[in-house]
Amino acid sequence: MSLKSKQEYIESLRRMQPTAYMFGEKLDNIVDNPRLRAGIEATAATYELAELEEYRDLIVTHSPLINEPVNRFTLPPGSVEDLVARVKMNRTLGQRVGTCFQRCTGLDCLSTLSIVCYDVDKKYNTNYFENFKHFLEYVQKNDLTCNAGVTDVKGDRSQSPHEQQDKDMYLHVVEKRDDGIVVRGAKAHQTGSLSSHEIIVLPTRALRQGDEEYAVAFAIPADSPGLIHVVGRSTLDHREIEGCDIGNVRYSKYCPTLIFNDVFVPWDRVFLCGETEFAVDTVVKFSSYHRQSHGGCKAGNIDCMTGAALTMMEYNGTQKAGHLKQKVIDMIHRAETLYGCSLAASYEGKQQSSGTYFIDTLLANASKIHEGKEMTEAIRLMIDIAGGYVADLPSDRDIQNPEIGELVKKYLKGAQDVPVEKRMKMYRFIEKLSQESADTISNIHGGGSPEAHRITLFRESDINKKKQAAKRLAGIEG
Ligand SMILES: Cc1cc2nc3c(=O)[nH]c(=O)nc-3n(C[C@H](O)[C@H](O)[C@H](O)COP(=O)(O)OP(=O)(O)OC[C@H]3O[C@@H](n4cnc5c(N)ncnc54)[C@H](O)[C@@H]3O)c2cc1C
Repeated sequence: MSLKSKQEYIESLRRMQPTAYMFGEKLDNIVDNPRLRAGIEATAATYELAELEEYRDLIVTHSPLINEPVNRFTLPPGSVEDLVARVKMNRTLGQRVGTCFQRCTGLDCLSTLSIVCYDVDKKYNTNYFENFKHFLEYVQKNDLTCNAGVTDVKGDRSQSPHEQQDKDMYLHVVEKRDDGIVVRGAKAHQTGSLSSHEIIVLPTRALRQGDEEYAVAFAIPADSPGLIHVVGRSTLDHREIEGCDIGNVRYSKYCPTLIFNDVFVPWDRVFLCGETEFAVDTVVKFSSYHRQSHGGCKAGNIDCMTGAALTMMEYNGTQKAGHLKQKVIDMIHRAETLYGCSLAASYEGKQQSSGTYFIDTLLANASKIHEGKEMTEAIRLMIDIAGGYVADLPSDRDIQNPEIGELVKKYLKGAQDVPVEKRMKMYRFIEKLSQESADTISNIHGGGSPEAHRITLFRESDINKKKQAAKRLAGIEG
């Protein structure tokens, strides 16, 4: 059976022994660390929902490769229906966890490689597509979570990889051996790398002659020797460790920097090695899939914000205020346009030479530009509706303090029939939704910086067709 239960997923992580550091200390138990566990629980929701009757049809699908039911997060899209189902699944999960569920970048990598490896083989008679298919079979049979190692640390942004003073600023091949390659470098912002079984590495940018050692794609287990996860600090990260004022009491997100300190990769796990001209295709495919994916999950996150805003209106006694209702409508409108763009990108998907379906890049990038601005606007509206205590609500520990607890409760009371504890919980949740840097910054930079989306939008637009339409109507020939 290829599907893991939530419990089997968590136990499978427990058997792994990754090298990880957080707040300056080496970690020997990832799964039971409250900070990381909240992230693992978010990914676990992708397994949990696959077990529930209500969601099974959305999450579980059939793999033609292994001829068994698989979790959709392991299946490169084989039809427009798969592309559409992916956006719907993401919205459901985004709504369920109220943060990032950290499994979608792995699918973006699998989908990308299922197209690019085939094209590289066709041109160079290499064996990458076979390698990839064996890897995919392993991922599907074991229902694994994969992490996307795409963003290099990049050093001096004005220099290409081979021009950098320190050659390790972009991950590269330092040794080619009979049995495999050795790689060195670091990947930044690795969402959920310790919740993953496998790390898939792709190049982060277009490459040119001279950059051959940087044109590398591969997959390795997250606990490979030489691989070091350094968990990044984010704004609310100590709340889970303190066990107090957590906000989202079930789920969270964390993003390590991943250092590849001379890591060995066997040849059968290598999917690109030196073919520089395919780096750009790899990046464009990955980032476009990822931008399509964001339209689903972020719409689900705005659903949570809208629910929080409406509940807060009840708790504050402002539910009849017309201007607040208008702001809620503005939030709903933002979620639906984001979702609509991603669905449209999926419905316009086309089959590629390998058989995999790829989305419409123009619509996916439009969706992501929209997200970068409008998620921030949705957050602003939610805070406007909720009130200033999003910023500085007294702690639950103040409530528990015998000297001031009752006084604090008295003054934090809102609507008459609402217990003060409920109002405080909702304020905390709104704080988490709006102030958790791992989420809010990802709305802007996740899947590439906003300028990357804009450049793609201009490049993919049929500029001449637009000019011709204008000239024809103006009566200009040529
Ligand atoms: C919370 C979060 C989660 C993420 N998760 C993942 C993940 O799981 N996997 C992964 O691989 N990546 C992940 N990312 C990385 C994300 O894709 C990058 O942050 C994004 O591509 C921007 O890269 P950067 O952070 O290095 O910023 P930079 O590339 O330094 O960009 C900063 C600014 O400088 C501009 N700029 C940069 N270089 C140039 C140049 N040469 N010329 C002109 N302008 C330039 C950019 O347009 C941007 O405005 C995540 C990011 C965040 C914030």
